[in-house]
Amino acid sequence: MENKIEHIKNEAVKELATASDKESIKALSVRYLGRKGVITQFLRNIPGLPPEERPVAGKKANEAKKFLDAAFNEALKELERASAADDRIDVSLPGRTPSRGFLHPITEITRQICDIFTRLGFDIAEGPEVEKDYYNFEALNIPKNHPARDMQDTFYVSEDIVLRTHTSPIQVRVMEKQEPPVRVIAPGKVYRCDSDLTHTPMFHQVEGLLVDENISFGDLKGMLTTFVHQMFDTRTSLRFRPSFFPFTEPSAEVDILCVMCRGKGCRVCSQTGWLEVLGSGMVHPAVFEYAKYDTARYTGFAFGMGVERIAMLKYGIDDIRKFFENDFRFLRQF
Ligand SMILES: [Zn+2]
Repeated sequence: MENKIEHIKNEAVKELATASDKESIKALSVRYLGRKGVITQFLRNIPGLPPEERPVAGKKANEAKKFLDAAFNEALKELERASAADDRIDVSLPGRTPSRGFLHPITEITRQICDIFTRLGFDIAEGPEVEKDYYNFEALNIPKNHPARDMQDTFYVSEDIVLRTHTSPIQVRVMEKQEPPVRVIAPGKVYRCDSDLTHTPMFHQVEGLLVDENISFGDLKGMLTTFVHQMFDTRTSLRFRPSFFPFTEPSAEVDILCVMCRGKGCRVCSQTGWLEVLGSGMVHPAVFEYAKYDTARYTGFAFGMGVERIAMLKYGIDDIRKFFENDFRFLRQF
């Protein structure tokens, strides 16, 4: 009799070991300890046993009942603890999205400038950053020993090779290969030996050139006014201020009403109320002669602007070096 109850207990323990969920543990509990359970039946049958066996059988059966009851409860608790641990992973949380790349503000502004001019019928042209003195200076009406060379602090690679100081040599290269009409916009890196709040040794320019018959200063004004209005705001006031460049005559710098103070005068505009955004002018006949263009037939205008300067004005940034420090907190804002 003792063996029988021991056997039942062992069977129950074995089955419990394979039960992996609440339902099967509860079912086991019912099968062994329920009203019609195996142990319960055993206890009920005790009165039918020989009198001398009854006390031991009863004691053993009650012990087995207690043991199994505890085992089932413990197994259920264990299961709950495990599922509580699972709950710490919230499957409804959104996944971690990998951060997407974005364009550098300088690239972004360069593209905006080029987009505006390509919509106006300009083609994009490019040229080398390591440039011959001839293209960078001489063919732009800046001969050797000309005082205008002092306007730009040049990096010389050798006597006749420089890091281009502006994107203007691209217009010389274009005119060398192409007869008018010419409409090109030329973005690129340029180099000058200069570094402070508003200058870096490398920066970006966009150069524009339009040559055709009957091109006047009025065309220049119209084209650049359209550009400024599209780049900044259609209500932006601008003015053309007489200036000097060796490769244009007459020359004009284009100012926009200060984006910070709206013309009242502030630190950014040095109290003038105006900010310079680009340089421009009618192409100097001497430059056309280098290109072998018929100066009696063709006229044209050229303009150039610093991309960093446009970006600084558009976004209200006061230090040009921020563009090149690669600080994500800064770059991510655009
Ligand atoms: Zn101002």
